[in-house]
Amino acid sequence: MDTRLKARPANVADPAVTSTPADLAPLAARAAKVRDLLRVGPGFDLAAVDARATPGLPRRAVADQGGKEWSREQVAAIGTHLADQQERLFAQAKVGGARGRLLLVLQALDCGGKDGTIKRVAGAMNPLGLHIVGFGPPTKEERAHDFLWRIRRALPDPGVVGIFNRSHYEDVLAVRVRNLVPESTWRARYDLINQFEKELADDGVTIIKAMLHISYGEQRQRLLDRLNDPTKQWKFNPGDLDDRARWPDFQAAYADALALCATPAAPWYVVPADRKWYRNWAVANLLLAAFADMGLKYPAPSFDVEEQRARLTAEERAGRGKREMNSS
Ligand code: ADP
Repeated sequence: MDTRLKARPANVADPAVTSTPADLAPLAARAAKVRDLLRVGPGFDLAAVDARATPGLPRRAVADQGGKEWSREQVAAIGTHLADQQERLFAQAKVGGARGRLLLVLQALDCGGKDGTIKRVAGAMNPLGLHIVGFGPPTKEERAHDFLWRIRRALPDPGVVGIFNRSHYEDVLAVRVRNLVPESTWRARYDLINQFEKELADDGVTIIKAMLHISYGEQRQRLLDRLNDPTKQWKFNPGDLDDRARWPDFQAAYADALALCATPAAPWYVVPADRKWYRNWAVANLLLAAFADMGLKYPAPSFDVEEQRARLTAEERAGRGKREMNSS
């Protein structure tokens, strides 16, 4: 008899599988602190944020090893939990019919690091449960609808982690700064966005909106790096320099979007992003804190485990019996 099959009494769930892993607690506690430090609250002043700052970073992180190395290890450790939590979320929707999902909205000026963040942080999760969508200038078809039409179509299904690389916020950022619609149109959008996001939250979507905040000097350096490296030149778009020339207007547009659309249903976080390693660590923490709040457990089976195990065992015995018969 296979003793492994009898290792656990029938229908008693394995606590290590269904409960919260023990080493999640300290990481989740710190993630919640980092999140609080980055959260946009009343009176928030974007101009006062130092893009090279590292809020919430333990002092020893830099003292011991240099932040970069430390961050890489921590992001890997957090990533293991992100993958575990993601699977629980997925399982709950698949088996339990839950509607919970997570949506990370990434906004940044050019070279802000949206792509790098997705690669480093989302890369820890299972691609099957990820839905990553980038938003460029709207197509003809998209322009024929209201600005949220294409966003609604891109939402993650229940159980899935969605990531927006740019989003509906472009309609109050780039659109506003480049004067693509009358002021009355973009002004009305802040309320529409808040209503939309409230609707999503009420439907089970946990929304995390992160602005990756880089400095004017860092953007210059990254643009130069792109121009100087033949393997990065494809990332350079001459139009980026036109937007760079409108830096103060973009900062003002971001400040308004942050102030007007930071709601309890869909908070905004500003992540200092001049240091890529801090940015990755901070976004990983935002995701972990959100997952931890969900208290995700694997769904209980809707069938009798012992009964199914007995069926399989019986089948195995029968199969073995047949083989034995054939060999005699
Ligand atoms: P990214 O810069 O994000 O890597 P792209 O080079 O494709 O990707 O740039 C996307 C461009 O699309 C950005 O300049 C952005 O401002 C623009 N964009 C996104 N959404 C809209 C919108 N709703 N209206 C106008 N422009 C938009």
